[in-house]
Amino acid sequence: MNASPHSETTIGATVLGYPRIGRTRELKKALEKYWAGNIDVAALNEAARAVRLDALDTMAGAGLDTVPVNTFSWYDHMLDTAVLVDAIPARFRDVSGTDVLAGFDAARYFAMARGTGTVPPLEMTKWFDTNYHYLVPEIGPDTRFTLRATKPVAEYAEAVARGVSPRPVVVGPFTFLSLAKAEAGAPDDFSPLSRLNDLVEVYAELLAVLADPGVAWVQIDEPALVRDLNDAQVGAVARAYERLAAVKHRPKILVATYFGSPVETLPVLAGTAIEGLALDLLRGPDFDEVAGTPGLAEKSLVLGAVDGRNVWRNDLTASRLELDRWRGAVRDVSVSTSCSLLHVPYDVEIETDLDPALKEVLAFADQKLAEVVALHGALHGRFPDAFSASDDVVSRRDLVPGLLRPDVTARAAAMTADDRQREPRHVRQTAQRERLTLPLLPTTTIGSFPQTRAVRVARADFAAGRSDLTAYTERMQAEIRDVVALQERIGLDVLVHGEPERNDMVQYFAEQLDGYASTRAGWVQSYGSRCVRPPILYGDVHRPEPMTVEWATYAQGLTAKPVKGMLTGPVTMLAWAFVRDDQPRAVTADQVALALRDEVIDLEAAGISMIQVDEPALRELLPLRAVDHQAYLDWSVGAFRLATSSVAAHTQVHTHLCYSEFGEIIEAIDGLNADVTSVEAARSDMELLASISERGFDGDIGPGVYDIHSPRVPDQAEIEVLIGLALTSVPAERLWINPDCGLKTRGYAEVEPALIHMVEATRAVRARI
Ligand code: GLN
Ligand code: ZN
Repeated sequence: MNASPHSETTIGATVLGYPRIGRTRELKKALEKYWAGNIDVAALNEAARAVRLDALDTMAGAGLDTVPVNTFSWYDHMLDTAVLVDAIPARFRDVSGTDVLAGFDAARYFAMARGTGTVPPLEMTKWFDTNYHYLVPEIGPDTRFTLRATKPVAEYAEAVARGVSPRPVVVGPFTFLSLAKAEAGAPDDFSPLSRLNDLVEVYAELLAVLADPGVAWVQIDEPALVRDLNDAQVGAVARAYERLAAVKHRPKILVATYFGSPVETLPVLAGTAIEGLALDLLRGPDFDEVAGTPGLAEKSLVLGAVDGRNVWRNDLTASRLELDRWRGAVRDVSVSTSCSLLHVPYDVEIETDLDPALKEVLAFADQKLAEVVALHGALHGRFPDAFSASDDVVSRRDLVPGLLRPDVTARAAAMTADDRQREPRHVRQTAQRERLTLPLLPTTTIGSFPQTRAVRVARADFAAGRSDLTAYTERMQAEIRDVVALQERIGLDVLVHGEPERNDMVQYFAEQLDGYASTRAGWVQSYGSRCVRPPILYGDVHRPEPMTVEWATYAQGLTAKPVKGMLTGPVTMLAWAFVRDDQPRAVTADQVALALRDEVIDLEAAGISMIQVDEPALRELLPLRAVDHQAYLDWSVGAFRLATSSVAAHTQVHTHLCYSEFGEIIEAIDGLNADVTSVEAARSDMELLASISERGFDGDIGPGVYDIHSPRVPDQAEIEVLIGLALTSVPAERLWINPDCGLKTRGYAEVEPALIHMVEATRAVRARI
């Protein structure tokens, strides 16, 4: 074989995937119109085609040698993989219509994604430690896998016709099954991974099908290989890829790993007859650790030197030095992004409001294409101007206005363990009981009330300059008055102001903090047609002035009941932003914590007796490898404590955590040392309470007793049952009653009766104990 850059056998400059929602969110808009019945399937297909062709043209135009295809999706690539292998759960088999997308019934496809009136959709969860959500496949002992290759074949043909060198991408069988859940009714000990051999046969067929039209390489994504694997799993991976490599007439196989290092499986994959491996150089293996792996030097390596999921411009010279080491040791090296560019916006050039000094240190998807091409060229002795430009910009990064704030770093450095320590819990409990005089089983909510259209319009009008500050403030105060009055009518014990002024719980604070920048159009797909615009945390974080105090004190002035101050915690402020990569996240988190600490101090001084600091993202940033958990929990818990430990014993600190899989972070919940912790629990029958109690957690806890993720109104009796269950693990003195999460996505028509039922159920239980 020949290792020259443009021979057929090498992949060359490439990326593992490209954004697919459309530069101006065309696909989102087309989907929403299609779902509303305003456009037909032909128009949807046309919009999708335009998005794909733009991707192909952009990637090829930037100079990539080969480009990924089948990375487009109408909704989600895990859903597409379920369709590819025909793993369609039984409840969707009867859903059908007349529209077809790449050979598949469109009604059934979108039913799996979004449900219908009667059929619930697939569950959705986070894709590894990113903010992308995928649909969870449901696999059972009898799921019949059948190949349906229409989509990859069509996207390949479309790209060939466009004159580019395409490489079909599919989610690999191991990752697909690792991320699947057992279908309802499967035996307790059934694991989807037990179906690997059957599924691999479908992939073997797929390889043969792709060989026919002349596909040179197929990329099989296996990010699940960067998590902890046991010996049985490693063996299963080895057998799967030996089998696929043994397919006679097939394209070359590139197994792509990202988000970490495939520590356990790298040696076995290097020993199989697959031709290529993609490695994430940012989070993945260290050259010195793996370069000597037997067989690796014979593979084609696709090295992800450009960060695919963050927005910082690459230091091309540093990357080139790293790549040179690999090239010295490996036969065939190609350059890529560390993962799909799905996780970053399209183009920084269209951002007109960013400080030019900041803008030049940023790289979105299109800028990353150019970086990959420059780095690949350098491997072959071509050094375009990009290198000196990169050196210049990298040397200027610290000069971005506001990036370095010596006052902030000095303050953070001066913090000691005492600054993260409150008085002992029993002292706080006594002081708070005296001050707050709450009933047994206090009732409350998590913060937001329904964000009605009127509220969103009022915010948008103010942001666009169509209304002035006075009019806006009056409008928001009117909303707060209504929400407080409603809570009093319902009889809740601890009130909230309802968060009408917040567009998003992170963006709202990011816009008020120094060190964060916002983009105008930096949209990233979150799931389906949903996009988010994460702020960019680029510099030392500082709070120039109070952020929430006016709203909180206004609300408190309306009622004799306590109103909770409401803040977003430091970990979540990092998790839902693009975070600077020039210092450890622990340092950045402490800076955010100090800004929040100032806010907490001001809220307390303004007479607010309870302050809730939400950390819904604490679980999602948990590292993929167990060895990294402790270090993460140390800094994340430490930052939360830094934000919340300044207050007097009689000020009550609440936190809210938004999920029910606590297994791995139960100790952290205790470590946060909040006085009251509310958690999602309604859907899991309070199971987690028992485990929390077993660990000796002695703070107050508010398990969600009302599932706000569905429009369904729970009745009083079922809430009473949940409260009864909770009381079997938590003494009444420490139990709070609240919904699962904020109410902003719900309507008043559901929220009001649901909260009334919650309060009545609580009263009924109180009367019995
Ligand atoms: N206080 C926020 C709200 O009620 C919390 C949201 C969340 O946990 N994601 O909306
Ligand atoms: Zn929540």
